[in-house]
Amino acid sequence: MRKKSLLNTRPLTATAKMLKMAAEDQGELKRVKVFGGSYSYMQYRTGCYFRAVCREGNILEVDMFTRADLAKKDREPRFRIFLDYENKEDNTYDCVSGKWRKAKIDGLDWKESQNALYVPQGKSIQTDTVRRLVNTYFHTGLSDSVWKAVLDFQNVVRADSLSKRHRIITDRIDQDMDMVPELPKNFDHFVHWKGFGDNHMLFFDNGSSKGYCTACMRHVPLKGRQEHNVKGRCPQCGSSVTYKGWKRQKYADGSTRVSILQKCEDGVHYVYRQFEAGRKLHREQGYVPEVKLYEEYRLILDARMREHHEYEFGEFKNTGIHRWCESGTTGRGRYGYYNGHWYGCYAKSVLYSANLTRVLKDTGLKYIPVAEIVRAVGSRRLDVRGMLDNMVSGRLPYEAFWKMGLKRFVTDDLLDSGGLTKLRRDAELRKPWEYIGLSKEYFNQAVRMDAGDRMVRILQRFRDMEVRVTDEQLEWIDGYIGPHVLLEYFRYQTPHKIIRYLKKLGVGGDMEHAKSTMSLYADYLDAARKLGMDIGDASVFFPQDMKRAHDEAAEQYTMMQEQEEASKRKESDAKLKKRAKLLKSLFDYGDEQMLIVIPDSWLALKHEGNAQHNCVTQYYDRAVEGETNILFIRRKEEPGKAFCTVEVKERSGRLLIIQNRIIYNGEAPKEAKDFMEKALARAQEKADRSARDRERENPVRIPVAM
Ligand SMILES: [Zn+2]
Repeated sequence: MRKKSLLNTRPLTATAKMLKMAAEDQGELKRVKVFGGSYSYMQYRTGCYFRAVCREGNILEVDMFTRADLAKKDREPRFRIFLDYENKEDNTYDCVSGKWRKAKIDGLDWKESQNALYVPQGKSIQTDTVRRLVNTYFHTGLSDSVWKAVLDFQNVVRADSLSKRHRIITDRIDQDMDMVPELPKNFDHFVHWKGFGDNHMLFFDNGSSKGYCTACMRHVPLKGRQEHNVKGRCPQCGSSVTYKGWKRQKYADGSTRVSILQKCEDGVHYVYRQFEAGRKLHREQGYVPEVKLYEEYRLILDARMREHHEYEFGEFKNTGIHRWCESGTTGRGRYGYYNGHWYGCYAKSVLYSANLTRVLKDTGLKYIPVAEIVRAVGSRRLDVRGMLDNMVSGRLPYEAFWKMGLKRFVTDDLLDSGGLTKLRRDAELRKPWEYIGLSKEYFNQAVRMDAGDRMVRILQRFRDMEVRVTDEQLEWIDGYIGPHVLLEYFRYQTPHKIIRYLKKLGVGGDMEHAKSTMSLYADYLDAARKLGMDIGDASVFFPQDMKRAHDEAAEQYTMMQEQEEASKRKESDAKLKKRAKLLKSLFDYGDEQMLIVIPDSWLALKHEGNAQHNCVTQYYDRAVEGETNILFIRRKEEPGKAFCTVEVKERSGRLLIIQNRIIYNGEAPKEAKDFMEKALARAQEKADRSARDRERENPVRIPVAM
C-alpha cells in the first residue's frame, strides 16, 4: 500500500441523512456530582459516523466523520482509514492535520472533549449497506459494527508485525513455555484449602444461630452468641476460622500466592509456577468464595534443580500484547532483592505438595523428604526458590536433621530462607551437629526439644560458654529470654539461680515488662563488670533492689568514664590551663551579684555542658588552640552552679562577646549581659595596656597573646 497514491482519490463526503441526524442530535446536559463539587457535560446520542468504499487494488477505505463536524455542516471526514486485507496492512490519514497516524481506530484523537473529566461517547453510526460492505470485505459475517470489524483487523495486523519483529525472542520463550504441563485437577482444591488455609472465615448472624464457613462452604449451626473477629474453629469441618459478623463485614477481598513445582514435558527440565490467587467474599453472594488465579511467574530449572530461565507474564516490550516475557522486562516493578539479584514478581508462596515426591524422584533432592517438609510448613508462605537453593547447595543436612527430629528447625530455616542460626562453613564437616556449631550433647538436647531456629541459637551461646541447662530450663529460657544479651551472664551463676532471680523480677509474666526488666538487668551486669565488681559474687549478681543497683552502677560508671576521658586529655588540658591563667588575669572581675569563672579542663566544660544542656564541649579543641575562649558567669551565692556560658573572641586586638547563653541555649538576662559588657571593657583595657607595655619594651609589635 503506497501512502501517496492513496490520497489521489478524493475522500467520501457526508450524506444529507448524516447531516440531518447530527443536526437533530442536540445533546442533553448532564450534571455529575463528584467529591467536592460537580461538573456538567453534554451527552450526545451519536459519536462518529462511517462511510466506506472499495478502492483500486482491493483496498477498503473507511471514512470517519464526527458529530461535531457534521453539526457544523462540515461534510469532510476527520479520518480516512485505508485497509488492505490481503497484505495485512492499514494506514490512517488525519484530514485535519494532514498527517498519517499510527494509532488504531480506538486510539484516534477526535473525541468530544468539552471537559477534562470522563464523558461517555455517543454511538457510532453506519448504514446497513456500509456495515455489509465492511464485513464482507473482512469475511466477518454481518454482525460486527464497522468500528469492531476495523479494530479487530488492526489488532491482527499489529500482532502479526510484532511477531515478525520479535520472533527470535518470542520463539525462545515459547519453546520453554511449551514444555510446561497442565495443572493437576485438584489444584483449585489445594488453593482453596491450603492457599487460603490460614485465612478462612465463618460469617455468623447471631439472630439466626447459623453461619457460613468459607472453608467447607457450608451453612453450619452455631451455639450461643459469637464475637466479631474472634478466632475459632468451624463446628462442621474443624478448620481454624475467624468469626465475622454478617452485619459487620460486607465483603472481605484478599489475595495470596500459591505455586507448584512440575516436571516439564521434555522430561529434563522442571518448572516452578507461581500464581496470585485473588479471593472475593461478598455478602450479596452469600460469601461463597470466588477465587481467580493469575499465573504471574515461571522459573525453568535444569535437571540439577538449578535456575535456568525466569519469566513473568505481562506486556511484551510496550506492544500492548500480554504474554510470557523474560523476567524483569515487563515493568511489573522490581519488588525486591534476593540472593544478589533483583527479582520481578517472584514471591514467597504456598507450595503444592501432593506431587513433590514424584517430581523430585530423579533429582539430587530425592532423599530429602521435601513433600513432608512442605506439608509441615502448612499454609505459611515459603521462599521456594531459596529452599531449592539451600537444599541443592547442601547448606544443611536437611535429610539427616529431619529424620533425627529437628523438624521445627528445618521448617524455620526454610521459611526464613536461611534462618538466623549461624552455620559452620568448614569443608570437612562430617557430623550433623557440626553444621550448627553444637557438640553432640547439645545437639541431642536440641533434638529432644524439637528446637526451632531460636532455641538452636540459645544452645549455640551456651555451648560456647559450656553452660548446661535442663530441658525445662531451656524451654523457659526459649520462651521468656530468647537469644538475649543476658545469656552472656549464665557463665557466672547457675542457671537455676538466675532463672529464680529473673522470675522474682517478674520475667515470665507480662512480656513488655519482662523485656524492659531484662535490658535494665543486663545494663546493670554490664556496668558492674566494667566497674571491676565481682559478678561471680551472688550479692553483686543478684542485688536486693535491682533498679537501685542499676542506677548506682550507672552513675559510678559515668563518673569512671569521665575520669578516663579527662586522663586521655591530659596534654591538651595542660595547654588549656595555661590559657586559662592568661584569661584569669584579664577577666579578674566581679560585682555584688556575679563573678567570672574560667574553665581550665575538659571536665569543667563537660560539667557545664551537662548542666546547661548545651554543646560547649565541642569548643574544647578550639579553646585549647586559643582560637576562641570560653568563660562562665556564676552567681556569687552559688559559684558551683552553672548560670551563663560565654564565648569571647579576639579580632585584631579587639575582644568581642560572641555568645552569652543560659540553660538550653537561652539568651542571657539583661543583668548578665551588662555584667559581661563591663567585664569585657575591663579586660580590653588590661589587654591594651599590656600591649603598650610590650611595645615600649620592644619596639617590634607583637600581637596580643589571645
Ligand atoms: Zn467449615
